[in-house]
Amino acid sequence: MCGIFGIYGHKNAAELSYLGLFALQHRGQESAGIVSSDGLNIYDRVRMGLVSEIFNGKKLAKLKGHMSSGHVRYSTKGGSSLKNAQPFVLKTGKGMITIAHNGNLINTDDISKKLENNGAIFQSETDSERIVHLIARSKERDLTDSIVDALKQVEGSYSLIITTKKDMYAIRDPYGIRPLSLGNVDGAYAIASETSALDLIGANYIRDIEPGEILKISEKCVKSIKPFEAKEPHPCIFELIYFARPDSYVFGVSVSEARKNMGQELAKYDKENNKNINADFVGPVPDSGMYGAIGYSKESSIEFDLPFTRNHYIGRTFIKPQQSTRDFSVKIKLSPVKEVIKGKRIVLVEDSIVRGTTSKDKIKNLREKGAKEVHMRVYSPLLKYPCFYGLDIPTKMELIAHHYGVDEICKIINADSLVYQSIEGLLNSVPQGTKYCHACMSGEYPILRSDVKD
Ligand code: 5GP
Ligand code: MG
Repeated sequence: MCGIFGIYGHKNAAELSYLGLFALQHRGQESAGIVSSDGLNIYDRVRMGLVSEIFNGKKLAKLKGHMSSGHVRYSTKGGSSLKNAQPFVLKTGKGMITIAHNGNLINTDDISKKLENNGAIFQSETDSERIVHLIARSKERDLTDSIVDALKQVEGSYSLIITTKKDMYAIRDPYGIRPLSLGNVDGAYAIASETSALDLIGANYIRDIEPGEILKISEKCVKSIKPFEAKEPHPCIFELIYFARPDSYVFGVSVSEARKNMGQELAKYDKENNKNINADFVGPVPDSGMYGAIGYSKESSIEFDLPFTRNHYIGRTFIKPQQSTRDFSVKIKLSPVKEVIKGKRIVLVEDSIVRGTTSKDKIKNLREKGAKEVHMRVYSPLLKYPCFYGLDIPTKMELIAHHYGVDEICKIINADSLVYQSIEGLLNSVPQGTKYCHACMSGEYPILRSDVKD
C-alpha cells in the first residue's frame, strides 16, 4: 500500500504536497518523496523515513514551481530501501517523467523479461519503474498515447500520478482497485489517494478519478479520456475495513460510517446466534478497531470502554531493547488499562486478523490484567487468500485463516469465543450497487493472474 498526492497550478505546490502526504502517512511509513516543476526543471527530494523527518521549510523551498506530486511508501513489492522509494524521476527520450504509484502489477515478471531482452537496465525492483520504461519505449510519439500504450500492457492495480515538466496525469486502473480523488483549492487541482488529504489543505472534493480514466491537467486545459476496454470496477473493500483513515471518503463511502456498520452487523449476528453473551463492555483494539467497536456497542446496547491506551510517539527510529522480539512492537504501542479490565467480561473488537500476532498478544494482556472473559469479534471475514493488488497479505502460508478454522483460531488466540464477519455481513455494511474486490476473503480474483505464483 502507498499514498499519492498531486497539486497543479498553485504557488505553494510543494508545501501543499507536504501537507497532503502528512494526511496520507498512515498509508505508508517507509519512505516519502516530493517532486515539483516550474515548467523548466524538475526538483525532487525522496528519502527513507516519515514525511515530518524528511522535509523542513528549507528543503521545501528548494522544490520550486506551481506543480508538485508526492508519495508515501509501504513496500509490498521490492525491498524497503531508497532505490525503491518514490516518486521516481526518470530521464527519457520523451523528456523527464516522474511517477507515483499506489497498487501492484501482477504481470511484472513478464514485462521485466521483455524489457530486459530489449536492453533495459532497472534501477529498482518496483512495478512503477517498469511503467516508465514502457512509456519511454512506446512507438507512440505523443506522451498521452505512450501512457495509454504502456498501460495497455500491464495487468493489476494502479492509481498513478505521472508528471512531466509541464503536465500532470491522474490515472486509475480499469478495475478501480485503489482509490484516487480529485479536488480544487485556490483555483488549483489537487489529487489524493484519500479525501483526508484534500481536507487538510482546504480543498473541495470534486469527484473520484474514475476506473479506467486518464485525466490530463495542463496549462491549456483539463482533458479526460477512457482509452481502456471497460471492466466492471472492483474497489478494494479492505480500504474500508482497515487501510483508509476514518475521516476519509474512499470510493464515495465514508470510512468511519462503513466501519460502524461493520461492527453493527457483527452485533446483529451475535443477537441472533449467541444470545447469551453477557459482557460488561465492548472495546476496540486501537486504533483500527475503534469505529467497529462503537457500532457493535450501539447495536448491542453493551457499554463502550477502552481497555487499551495507545502510545502515539513511537517514531520509526525507536530502538528496541536487545531481548526484543517481533511481539515487542505490539506491546510498546498498546498498553492495557487495568482498572477498566479487572474482573470484566469483554467483547474485544478488531478490524482483522492476519497472522494472529496482535489478537493473541492483546488477549494475553487482558487476561494478565484480570479479565474474566474475552469474546473476540472481527469485522472482516477470514483472510484466507493472498492479495496481489497491493495489500500486505502476500502469501497464504502467513495467513492464520489459511491453516485453521474459526474454532482452532479461537483456541490459538485464547479467546472465550470468536466470531468473524461473514462476507454477506460485510457487503451489508457498505452501500449496495458496487462490486467490491474481496479476493483475500473469497478467493475470487477480479483480474487475471497470468504470472502470479502463490
Ligand atoms: P496480525 O497481528 O493478526 O498479524 O494482524 C492484525 C492486525 O494488523 C490488526 O490489528 C490490523 O488492524 C492490522 N493490519 C491489518 N492489515 C494490515 C496491513 O496491511 N498492514 C499493517 N501494518 N497492519 C495491518
Ligand atoms: Mg489494528
